[in-house]
Amino acid sequence: MRLILAVQSDKVCSPLLQDLAQKGITRILPTRPPHKPELLRDHDYWMQRAITEAGKAQARNEVPIGCVIVRDGKIIARGHNLRETKQDPAGHAELIAIRKAARKLGSWRLIDTTLYVTLEPCTMCMGAIILARIPTVVFGCYDPKGGAAGSLFDLSCDSRLNHRVTLLPNVLESDCSKLLSDFFAELRKRKRSARLT
Ligand SMILES: [Zn+2]
Repeated sequence: MRLILAVQSDKVCSPLLQDLAQKGITRILPTRPPHKPELLRDHDYWMQRAITEAGKAQARNEVPIGCVIVRDGKIIARGHNLRETKQDPAGHAELIAIRKAARKLGSWRLIDTTLYVTLEPCTMCMGAIILARIPTVVFGCYDPKGGAAGSLFDLSCDSRLNHRVTLLPNVLESDCSKLLSDFFAELRKRKRSARLT
C-alpha cells in the first residue's frame, strides 16, 4: 500500500526521505505553499531600492531621483537621474530604467512590471510609461512643479489614451522628499558660499 504523508515544512532532509521511502511512503505533500521570500516583499522594500538608485545620482551631483522596475519579484532594471552628466534632457531615471528593461526582456511591452520611482514622473516619463504599457507605478513624493501623475497633469487615466496606469503615491514619501530637500538646501548653501568667496 502506498502512503502519502503531509508534512509541515517544505524542506525535508534527504535522510528523512530515504527513511520514508524504506517505509513505502513515496509522496510528500507540503501543507503550505512553497516560501518565496522575493514575492513577499512590499512596496517599501522596492522603494528603498529606488532610493539607493537616487543616492547614485546624488553622488554625481545630480538631482537625486532613482527608479527600479520589478517583475516576478525581481529587479529587472535600475536607473538614476543623469541629466547633467550626460547633458541629456531625456536622462531621467525612469526613461533610463525603461530602456534597460525593454532590452532585458527583448520587448517594448513591459507588461507584468511595476515601476518604482522616488519622485512623481514628469510628462515625458509618464508618456514612456504609457507607451511601454507599464501597468503600475509606485512613487515616493509628488512633484508640484512638473508631475504628470496627479500634480500638473494626470496622464494615468486619460480616456483619450489607450492605456491606463494604476498609481500608488506617497510610498516612503518623507524619505523621498527629504532626499530632494536636503540636496537643494546643500546646493543653495554651496552657491551662497561661492558668492562670498
Ligand atoms: Zn521624467
